[in-house]
Amino acid sequence: MSQVPSITLNNGVEMPQLGFGVWQVPDDEAAKVVATAIESGYRSIDTATLYENERGTGQAVSASGVPREDLFVTTKLWNSEQGHDSTLRAFDASLDRLGLDYVDLYLIHWPVPAKDAYVDTYRALERILSEGRARAIGVSNFLPEHLERLMGETSVVPAVNQIELHPQLQQPESRAFHAEHGIATEAWSPLGQGKGLLEVPTVVAIAQKHGRSAAQVVIRWHLQTGNVVIPKSVTPSRIKENADVFGFELDADDLAAFAALDEGKRLGPNPGEFNAGA
Ligand code: NAD
Repeated sequence: MSQVPSITLNNGVEMPQLGFGVWQVPDDEAAKVVATAIESGYRSIDTATLYENERGTGQAVSASGVPREDLFVTTKLWNSEQGHDSTLRAFDASLDRLGLDYVDLYLIHWPVPAKDAYVDTYRALERILSEGRARAIGVSNFLPEHLERLMGETSVVPAVNQIELHPQLQQPESRAFHAEHGIATEAWSPLGQGKGLLEVPTVVAIAQKHGRSAAQVVIRWHLQTGNVVIPKSVTPSRIKENADVFGFELDADDLAAFAALDEGKRLGPNPGEFNAGA
């Protein structure tokens, strides 16, 4: 894992390109699962208030023996807490549950258009950034139209937009927009949640060609596409397997075959219409 490349965010902070996601990991299992991930070499962990496992995640970070500055911790503000002052309170509560005095990245989880509060919310993130309590700030599930408005009304360009992205939903418009504005693209559900994607014949054939698993070649596709990628597993062998992706490379034929898999098919909600917690 010493080979895990970093990407440099638009404020100079280095973020590991491969991290570990903990959605749907119960809080009482999170400490063990995250400890396994850190032992397997991951240095970046992606949690959220919604996941209700910030406590277990933070315990693993503190108990890991890895210096805090060598780890990269992301958490996210839940929709119901959007608004300037409520965000400041929610951030304090997240830090408290994590048992940390700063996070590396703080994200607005969804734009929640019906609430129309993401601009005020983001101003609170700018304050948290200026206080050094987050090393970088950004958003998740923002469409280009949300980013346009945000950048028009605030001063700090988001460092990251974490969006649903996998070979069957390659998000070319968002990726081009991010590239143009210096925003890193982070892929959620990078394995397509382990559903049909890992059985797609093209993916299976590429995996066989390299003597690797389907999950490994998909993670490799993300890395070579320039995405930050945060696969999730609670199974120790898979946690290790998903990190063992630096000893091979996809070639131009593989990348062309992956390019043909895009169906524009979302597994999760459309951010323009998702208003949970409004
Ligand atoms: P994923 O695409 O990472 O798939 C995880 C699933 O794939 C596992 O539960 C398992 O069933 C399977 N899997 C994992 N490794 C495997 C392997 N080696 N072989 C075979 N199957 C394997 O899905 P995800 O958890 O939805 O996404 C990853 C992370 O992205 C989450 O944990 C979370 O941190 C983040 N996320 C963010 C948002 C958001 O709105 N910002 C939404 C969803 C997920």
